[in-house]
Amino acid sequence: MRILLDIAGLSVAYGHVTALQDLSLAVPEGGIVALLGANGAGKTSLLKAVAGVVRPRSGRVVFDGRDITAAGVPARLADGLVLVPEGRRILVSLTIEENLLVGAHLRRDPDGVRRDIAAIYERFPNLGRRRHMAASCLSGGEQQMLAVGRAMIARPRLLMLDEPSLGLSPLFIEHLFALIRALNRDGITILLVEQNTAQALAVAHTAAVLELGRIVMAGDPAQLAGDPRLAEAYLGRA
Ligand code: ATP
Repeated sequence: MRILLDIAGLSVAYGHVTALQDLSLAVPEGGIVALLGANGAGKTSLLKAVAGVVRPRSGRVVFDGRDITAAGVPARLADGLVLVPEGRRILVSLTIEENLLVGAHLRRDPDGVRRDIAAIYERFPNLGRRRHMAASCLSGGEQQMLAVGRAMIARPRLLMLDEPSLGLSPLFIEHLFALIRALNRDGITILLVEQNTAQALAVAHTAAVLELGRIVMAGDPAQLAGDPRLAEAYLGRA
């Protein structure tokens, strides 16, 4: 199994607040890795450090065999490291299509972009029908689909999703996890931060549980799902 993303000894701090401590994690190419843990455990900081949004204090990030620890966000985007941040960050005053085009700003193949946008409208007819309307007309679930669509336009090799199911209705959560599976089948490696532990474990090939900036449990999702410590802490059953 080839490792696409290799995180070694990563530490992140905000002033005196330590968010990640000497964390190591390998993400296999073509896999779905779920990151679980309570609020403040460091999950978002890990995604941000991989995306290049925050600088680690120490450690390194290797992507596709190259050390990218010092690389900026645009270089990582160009490499295919794409983050869908928590809260979607859709530009509600822009149209749906303009939002998708934001994901294309590094691409120099307008025909390819047009084809990819058409494919997104095929996948999400609700977006296609309203392509020229302001994104504010979309429901929360549709905005999340738009955020994922925008990330797709950037042609990710590693797609990082931060709490994508937050605030969505059960029906949209089903759609979202089906979409995650479909994108993964298309060859995209996925790093998924979720509070929705049961669903995340069902979709993932590997899972890691963070606590206070460290990985405290990791491995096969089915085994973790049956682990009484995880059940007690995150699955709402003792
Ligand atoms: P959540 O689910 O709430 O997003 P998380 O597991 O993603 O939690 P992080 O957001 O990475 O955790 O936060 C890890 C730690 O770093 C927490 O103690 C948090 O308060 C702190 N932290 C995060 N961002 C900042 C910041 N910009 N400035 C100061 N402290 C921060």
